[in-house]
Amino acid sequence: MVIVMKKGCTREDLARVTSAVEDLGLRAHVLPGVDRTAIGVTGNPGPLDPDAFERLPGVARAIPVSQPFKLASREMNPNDTVVRVGKRAIGDGGLFVIAGPCAVENADQIMETALAMKSAGADALRGGAFKPRSSPYSFQGLGKEGLILLAKAREATGLPIVTEAVDQATLGLVAEFADVVQIGARNMQNYELLKRAGKLAKPVLLKRGMSATLEDFLLAAEYVLAEGNPHVILCERGIRTFSHHNRYTLDLSVVPTAREVCHLPIFVDPSHATGRREAVPAMARAEFHPSPDEALSDGRQALRPQQGAELFAQLRAIAAIVARKAEAVR
Ligand code: PEP
Ligand code: MN
Repeated sequence: MVIVMKKGCTREDLARVTSAVEDLGLRAHVLPGVDRTAIGVTGNPGPLDPDAFERLPGVARAIPVSQPFKLASREMNPNDTVVRVGKRAIGDGGLFVIAGPCAVENADQIMETALAMKSAGADALRGGAFKPRSSPYSFQGLGKEGLILLAKAREATGLPIVTEAVDQATLGLVAEFADVVQIGARNMQNYELLKRAGKLAKPVLLKRGMSATLEDFLLAAEYVLAEGNPHVILCERGIRTFSHHNRYTLDLSVVPTAREVCHLPIFVDPSHATGRREAVPAMARAEFHPSPDEALSDGRQALRPQQGAELFAQLRAIAAIVARKAEAVR
């Protein structure tokens, strides 16, 4: 249930509603909004009586949430969530490009890529220091050394860093270095990791599991939100289907549907979704590597720097047209 407070309600009103929720053994999540404050209620096994809350001073309405994911739902928060990363915002309608190699491999590779990404106009640098690989014999990442190299690349370029945490043991370390902590497709249903990520004060980029339904995906996001971290960014990265012309199938159709039912921003990762650089520009956002043919992981999908610069220019042009169209219909 979401309890919408009246405009101008007092702090005492809010405290009274919060106590009423907690007295029932439930959790109250205060959700400050642009023009009103709401309190999300979670933990109730069945429907709650709206009257019990609408009776309290300062309450405008108490609305049951029909979706299984509560805090992630549009019913709970009709406004788009905007996540701040450094001086930039994700989810405010602007274009935001995260680019970089699959993995940090060495000092030159990540620095060279970061500088190329910066001049191509990327908004954030990505690269894994801890890698969840399908094979135990594949390169597993540089670990802490990779994080240090990412921090140096951030220092040189000013680009915020997006990097993955693969387990609870290293989550804290990753969060110390990262501007955005990525939780990958393989860990989307690692609920204990999600709960821990919910305690971080850093944004979390949650990638969709390759066989997760939209509901599975949003319930995974709910785990992070429910622990108190509201800064969750979704990412569609391709799902398993019967098609094998590309590595996965980019489920673009999940984007509008997710946005209907959920207020969190959503990215698309066309690199992992296709696994082939030829298919990436068409699918719209890139992974980069200075010499992809020698990459230790996912080189086949990495664009060359020049290809990336061209793609970013196209994306900016498309974003400008879409923004103009949005202006026109307003
Ligand atoms: C990655 O971003 O490098 C990655 C491993 O992605 P995914 O979890 O989507 O496979
Ligand atoms: Mn990868």
